[in-house]
Amino acid sequence: MQLDGANGVISGNRHMCSKFAGTIVAAILLCMSYGVYSKPLDPSVVHTDAIGKYASILRENDVSLSLPEAIALYRGGSVDSSEKSYLNFGIGSKPVWLIFEVENASTTTIKKRISLETSWIDWVDIYFLRGDEVSDSYQSGDRLPYNQRPIKSRFFSFDHEYRKGKTLIVLRVETTDPMVLPIYFTNIEASNERALQQSYGYGFLYGLIFALLVYNLMLYVSLRNSSYLFYSLHMLAFIAVNIAYTGHGYQWLWSGSPVWQMWSIPVLMTSYAIFGFLFAASFLNTKTDLPRFHRVITVGCCTIAIALLFFILAGSLLAVLFLAFSVVCFFAFGMTYSGILASQNGSRSAYYFLAAAILGSGGATITCATVWGIWPYSDLGYRSVELGTMFAAIILALALASRFNIINKEKDVAESLARLDPLTGLFNRRAFSEYAMPIWNASLRNGRDMAIIIMDIDRFKLINDSYGHAAGDDVLTTISRLLSEEARGGDIIARWGGEEFIMFLPETSVQKAEMVAERYRQRIGASRVAFADSFITFSASFGVAIKEKNEKSFEALISEADKRLYEAKQLGRNKVVSGRRD
Ligand code: GH3
Ligand code: MG
Ligand code: MG
Repeated sequence: MQLDGANGVISGNRHMCSKFAGTIVAAILLCMSYGVYSKPLDPSVVHTDAIGKYASILRENDVSLSLPEAIALYRGGSVDSSEKSYLNFGIGSKPVWLIFEVENASTTTIKKRISLETSWIDWVDIYFLRGDEVSDSYQSGDRLPYNQRPIKSRFFSFDHEYRKGKTLIVLRVETTDPMVLPIYFTNIEASNERALQQSYGYGFLYGLIFALLVYNLMLYVSLRNSSYLFYSLHMLAFIAVNIAYTGHGYQWLWSGSPVWQMWSIPVLMTSYAIFGFLFAASFLNTKTDLPRFHRVITVGCCTIAIALLFFILAGSLLAVLFLAFSVVCFFAFGMTYSGILASQNGSRSAYYFLAAAILGSGGATITCATVWGIWPYSDLGYRSVELGTMFAAIILALALASRFNIINKEKDVAESLARLDPLTGLFNRRAFSEYAMPIWNASLRNGRDMAIIIMDIDRFKLINDSYGHAAGDDVLTTISRLLSEEARGGDIIARWGGEEFIMFLPETSVQKAEMVAERYRQRIGASRVAFADSFITFSASFGVAIKEKNEKSFEALISEADKRLYEAKQLGRNKVVSGRRD
C-alpha cells in the first residue's frame, strides 16, 4: 500500500464513500483537537514501563477509519496523547488507533517486541510503516484461532526489526470487552523472561488453589457437607475464570475455539459468583439462621442462572458481559453483607467468612475498577483479585478445617453425654457394658478374680410417695455421689435402672467384694437428705457375685448378683448377700 505523505490523501484503489467520510471525520477532529505529537520511542533504550505516554491516540467515531485515513489524521495532527503509561478506554469503547513513532539513531538494526498484554481484545491490527510504505502488517486478536497468531503467546505480541531512521507503528484495537491496553516495547529476551516470571506466579497461584480445592472435595466426599462442595466449585470457577481472562485457557486448553474464548470470561465470572453465593449460604447456615436472606440468595442465584442461559441462547455477548460485570460487582458487596449479617447473628464462622469476604471482594473490586478504567492501571491493581482470592481461599479453608474440628468436638461431647445418666452423672447401662467388657475379657484370659455388686434402694417408692419425686431425685444423686467417692480407681459404677446401681470390681476376691458392699451399705445407712425441717434417711440392699473358675459369661454373673440382691430383699432389706451360683 502506498500513502501520499505530503497532503495526507491516500492514493490507491479505495472506495470513494469511505474516503469522503474519512475526510469529514478528519476535518471534525482537526477542529476539535490541537495536534499533539508524542515523542518517539528509542529502540536502543530499555522500556520497563508500559509505553502509553508515547502513543498518539485516535478514537473512531461511528464511521470506521481505514489505515490511510488514520495516517492522514495523524499527519494532520488530529490526535490525542496520554499522560498515563497504561491506556484504558473502558467497556464499550469505539475502536482506537494508536500510533507510535520509533526512531533508531544507530546504524544497526534493532529487533524489538511490541506486546499488548490484555488477552481478550477482539481484533488487533498492526502496521509497520517506513515513510509511506507499509513494510509489515499482522492481524491478531482473540476472534482469530490461537494458531493464527504471529507469535504464540497468551498476549498479542509482534516482533519487528527497526532499521536506522523512523518507523511508524500503527495499531488498531477493537473489542466489545473492556479496552485495557498495557502495551510494552521490550527486547525479545526480556519479554520471554517476563513471561517466565509471570508463569511462575500463576503456577504458584493455581497450585495452591487447586490443592485447597482437592482437599475440600475429598472432605465433601467423606463428610457430605455441601459447604465443602460449594467451596471447591467456587475455587474451580475462580481458577477457570482466571485461566480464561489471563489468556492461558486459549493458549493451553481451547486454542481452536474462538467462540468459547469470546464467551468464556463472562460465563465463568458469573458461575464464580453463583458458586460463591451458594457457598456463603451453606457455610453461614443461612437456611436456618437467616431464612429471609437465604431466600434472597437462592432466588437471586436462580434468576442470574436463568438470565445467563437466556442471554447465551439469544446470542447477546454484550448482555452476558453486562450481567457478568454487574453480578461480580454485586458479589463483592453481597459476600461482605452476608458476613456482616451472620456475624451479627453471633455465628463464630462468620468472622472468618467476613475477613475472607473483605479480602476476596476487595481484591475483585480493585481489579474490576482497574479493568473498567475507574482506577488507574497498575500491575498490582490488575492482579489484586488473585492476591485477595488467594488469601480468602486460605482463610476459608482454615475456617472449614476449624469448623470440622468444632463439629468433631461437639460430636465427642454428644457421644460422651450419650453414655452418661443425666440425673446422676454416672455411666448408663450401655456405657457400663462398653467399659466393663474389655476388662472382663482380659481378666478372663489371665484367670483373675472379678466381682459384680448390684444395689437397690429399699422402699424407694415410699420415699417418692412421702416426700415427692424431687426429694426422691435428691436421694438418688446423694447416693450416686457417695458411690463415686467410695469407689476405687478401676471400679466401674453405673445406674442400672430406676433406683438400682451396678458395680464391676476387677481383681477382687469374694471377701473383698463383700467388704466393699458392706462399706457402701453402712455409708448409705448413715447418710441423709435434708427435707423441709427434717431429714430423709434411707437404706439399700446388695447382691454380690464372684466369677467362678469356669464362669464364661458376663451376663450370667450379673444375673447371679441380681439373684443375691433378691435374697437380700427377702431377708428383710438393708443387707449384703453374696455367694456361689446354685
Ligand atoms: P424395694 O425395696 O422392694 O426395692 O421397693 P421399692 O419401692 O424401692 O421398689 P419399686 O421397684 O417398687 O419402686 C421403685 C421406684 O423408684 C418406682 C419409681 O417410680 C421410682 N423411680 C425410678 N426412677 C426414679 C427417678 O429417677 N427418680 C425418682 N424420684 N424416682 C424414681
Ligand atoms: Mg427399691
Ligand atoms: Mg427396684
